Amino acid sequence: METSRIDEELNQWLRDAHAMEEQAEKMLQAQSSRIENYPELAAGIERHLAETRRQKERIEQCLTRRGSSTSSMKDVAAKFTAMLQGVGGTVASDEVVKGAMASYTFEHFEISAYKALIAAAEMAGDTETARVCTEICREEEAMADQLAGLLPKVATTYLERSARDMAEAKR
Ligand code: MG
Ligand code: FE
Repeated sequence: METSRIDEELNQWLRDAHAMEEQAEKMLQAQSSRIENYPELAAGIERHLAETRRQKERIEQCLTRRGSSTSSMKDVAAKFTAMLQGVGGTVASDEVVKGAMASYTFEHFEISAYKALIAAAEMAGDTETARVCTEICREEEAMADQLAGLLPKVATTYLERSARDMAEAKR
């Protein structure tokens, strides 16, 4: 059967989304190992890590159902996270704050990817892929909302700790 151009593009975007979720998994894993002093953030990251692994599987299932595979991935997401790590990479002490900022930004990168995917899937007449991507997009939006709520507290908790450490060092 002839695959249309739109179907080919949709398959490639699904492969990009799969690569993006792999990158998300790596980022969340790295973060979860260094936020023991921020229990709410740690809980949110743990929850979204499980969600992210499931998202990766669901995208794989979409590709399999469409007769495509996850191979030949582009490295858009890898480049994006390299850029984000560059932002926070120079300062070690406030890396929790920079990490939360990077996560918030990454969630919006994911939201934008799924918005485009939903439109492409609808155009291709693939209602199941559109449905899956809509559900995943809601999870990304929920995580972004949670991070937006937590960021001020992460920042002030960090500043309090930093000020206390400084005062102790002076004694
Ligand atoms: Mg995701
Ligand atoms: Fe996400």
